[in-house]
Amino acid sequence: MESKEIRKRFLRFFEEKQHEIVASAPMVIQNDPTLMFTNAGMNQFKDFFLGNSQPSSNRITDTQKCLRVSGKHNDLEEVGMDTYHHTMFEMLGNWSFGDYFKKEAIEWAWKLLTKEFKLPADRMYASVFGGDEADGLEMDQEAFDYWKEIIPEDRIISGSKKDNFWEMGDTGPCGPCSEIHIDLRSDEEAAKVPGRDLVNMDHPQVVEVWNLVFMQFNRLANGSLQNLPAQHVDTGMGFERLAMAIQGKKSNYDTDVFSPLINFIAESAHVKYGENEKTDIALRVISDHIRAIAFAIADGQLPSNNKAGYVIRRILRRAVRYGYTFLGFKEPFMNTMVPLLAEQFDGVFPELVAQKEFISKVIREEELSFLRTLDKGLAKLEIITNQAKNVNGLIDGKTVFELYDTYGFPFDLTSLIARENELSVDEEGFKKEMEIQKNRSKKAAETSAGDWVELKRTEEVQFLGYESLSAKSSIVKYREIDEKGKKLFQIVLDRTPFYAESGGQVGDTGYLSDGDKRISIIDTKKENNLTIHFSNELPENLEAEFDAVVNSKKRKLTENNHSATHLLHAALRQVLGPHVQQKGSLVNEKVLRFDFSHFSKMTDEEIDQVEKIVNQKVRENISLDEKRNVPIAEAQEMGAMALFGEKYGDFVRVITFDKDYSVELCGGTHVPATGTIGLMKIVSEGSVAAGVRRIEAITADRAEEYYTKQNKLVAQVNELLNSPKDLVKAVETLIKEKQELTKTIESVNLEKAGAQKDVLQKAIKPVNGYNVLIAEAQLPDAEGLKKLSFELKNEINNLIMIVAADIAGKPQISIMISEELVKSLNLHAGNLIKELAKEIKGGGGGQPFYATAGGKDLSGLPSVVTKAKEIIDGITNH
Ligand code: ATP
Ligand code: MG
Repeated sequence: MESKEIRKRFLRFFEEKQHEIVASAPMVIQNDPTLMFTNAGMNQFKDFFLGNSQPSSNRITDTQKCLRVSGKHNDLEEVGMDTYHHTMFEMLGNWSFGDYFKKEAIEWAWKLLTKEFKLPADRMYASVFGGDEADGLEMDQEAFDYWKEIIPEDRIISGSKKDNFWEMGDTGPCGPCSEIHIDLRSDEEAAKVPGRDLVNMDHPQVVEVWNLVFMQFNRLANGSLQNLPAQHVDTGMGFERLAMAIQGKKSNYDTDVFSPLINFIAESAHVKYGENEKTDIALRVISDHIRAIAFAIADGQLPSNNKAGYVIRRILRRAVRYGYTFLGFKEPFMNTMVPLLAEQFDGVFPELVAQKEFISKVIREEELSFLRTLDKGLAKLEIITNQAKNVNGLIDGKTVFELYDTYGFPFDLTSLIARENELSVDEEGFKKEMEIQKNRSKKAAETSAGDWVELKRTEEVQFLGYESLSAKSSIVKYREIDEKGKKLFQIVLDRTPFYAESGGQVGDTGYLSDGDKRISIIDTKKENNLTIHFSNELPENLEAEFDAVVNSKKRKLTENNHSATHLLHAALRQVLGPHVQQKGSLVNEKVLRFDFSHFSKMTDEEIDQVEKIVNQKVRENISLDEKRNVPIAEAQEMGAMALFGEKYGDFVRVITFDKDYSVELCGGTHVPATGTIGLMKIVSEGSVAAGVRRIEAITADRAEEYYTKQNKLVAQVNELLNSPKDLVKAVETLIKEKQELTKTIESVNLEKAGAQKDVLQKAIKPVNGYNVLIAEAQLPDAEGLKKLSFELKNEINNLIMIVAADIAGKPQISIMISEELVKSLNLHAGNLIKELAKEIKGGGGGQPFYATAGGKDLSGLPSVVTKAKEIIDGITNH
């Protein structure tokens, strides 16, 4: 059975049991400081288990993209080494939120595996929670009894708290779980060692496929357990492992999920999978990692130097390095796999197909830049490993950190290479160095906060800023903070019209007034969804009722830019194509900045076209259509763009300017109708990262000012040129004329220099066998004087030439002495010129045969000649 069919049947099976099929949440998690990537199917439903919100259906099924490379679940080191752990994998799940419980979960799981998928019932084992004394919990008899109805007792295994009690975190919903393990070994092997003995023993063919979690307790902060009011089911089955079992394979990499990728890589590297352990590992690593990287980028996480971005960069580098060392890939390679991957997931995860060019491009750039440092780093590492071998077999933390910091070698890469050389690395030392660096950067941006002072209790802070720019409000709490040595106050209001910085839009400024005194609000930001107002001071009467007033001019200018950003986004998709996706934005009262995926520089025509469309939409004066609390699925149906980071169950705000033109999810504030924007003008277009372009544009007054200024400029030029019929042509003519004039001047100068040469030649006096030339001259440029000096030297023997020249109003001296005289007379032009240069208040130097000097005093030229004559006379007449 093909894997696509397996996925389909899983979902259909539960759909037939009244489960709603929902989409996978993004693999990259935004706005959660505790978790960077989805690592289990339940992540997106956390709030339902906690009772914070209600699902639309109490039975749900899905396949969830998971990534286990950081934090509590980190399988990275295993990936490629074994055959059943991946970085990115799909977790198939069925969920009951306060609906069915253990009986149905167990029965259905068994039915699906044995009836629908026809897996051998006698090769499967179920584990149940065996109880825990410290928690005062008995074994999970209920689960045991249900299993006993289905399978013989000797295939039910009692497990410890570690394997069979699932907790979300230190506190919160938790409960016992039942895992289903399958033995995929041959009959002969199975006859030798019972599968039962290999469960949870890291055997590659006796693996866990499905985990059924029964959420029935709530762990309190003091460690005790409380019964939950409602009981839930949370299951997770590894899709790739299931495919291995159904397709009768011994490794996930032999299933049709991976074999096309493995074949592609093997062919490119001219190797065969299954012939050599080292190349096999490399093939597995690359075929696995490309999935993690491609999906992460599709979800909006570009490789970068920190946090989630750095995790992705590290995975990519791990793969590149394996390819480089074991498969001989010295040029970017990973990016060429993207089309194949996209094709594989077509119809399942459409985000890959939709962005495949962008993804390839980003990966290629990353590969290029890493390959550049890889050579250097590997050479360095070789020296280091050789040294370590001779010393104590340990690579110290400082060195590991240097490799990380300077050469971009992830820690696990260095430790891997170390292991290959039978060395170890000083992990503690490395962590210490990391810590030191972190502290260094933290210090630079240090903020320390005092405790909140609570003035009153409120249920929820009300945001009124979508409809009004002022409100009556009072202070809920405040605190003092120290930001880089500056004292500031943070204030929380019970009702606020102030928009807090988010979605690229700047925070509002304004003031609080108690009728008597005003306090300036200098910025507004969000912290854990709380709107925080920043001020340099606190009001005298903290308990007063305030008028909270937003700086409306700034807000309205910002709104122009924000709405214009939406119009721009839509226009870009029309002109450049639907691959254009928002990659970032900044909107304030001055400009709008919009980053988007696109591969080449926009042409002038494309920019013109985009501007034209946007300004057309401005003139259409389209009214704002704002909808709040729209379920995500409905927003999708409306055609909303930018569904990044949203997950099932979220409610979103949809901003529409003409439902056939621009529909976006957005929390920002907008103009009531597009006409308010007045005018939009793109002022720059450039590249910010691989495959990401940036446009900056201005609107309203600023755009008008821009055009006025440009107009004035043209008018001024026009006037200077006496208002010609064709201004451009007039300027062109001017440039051409100038070029011609320059040419003429050059030839005139040449002629002049030639004439000077004649004059000087005639002034040469033979004295005792020497040809002495000491004279004043006039030349248009210094180059002419030099040329002339060398020409005379070549033409005349025994020459002593000292010329004091007026070079376009500046005094200059040139001395040229025939080489034979330098020796016989012991003359040095460089020394001589220092003496003479005093006469023109200047200085200079040079070689024994040739020297030049410049000066400030043109009137000194005659004295140069007189003095030179005296000196040369003394030498030639001795
Ligand atoms: P294991 O002990 O094999 O690492 P686990 O206990 O970490 O598995 P769970 O957290 O219970 O697994 O996840 C549910 C299911 O997801 C597992 O039964 C397995 O089929 C699958 N799974 C877990 N981790 C991975 C992984 N790194 N790669 C592929 N599938 C995985
Ligand atoms: Mg695990």
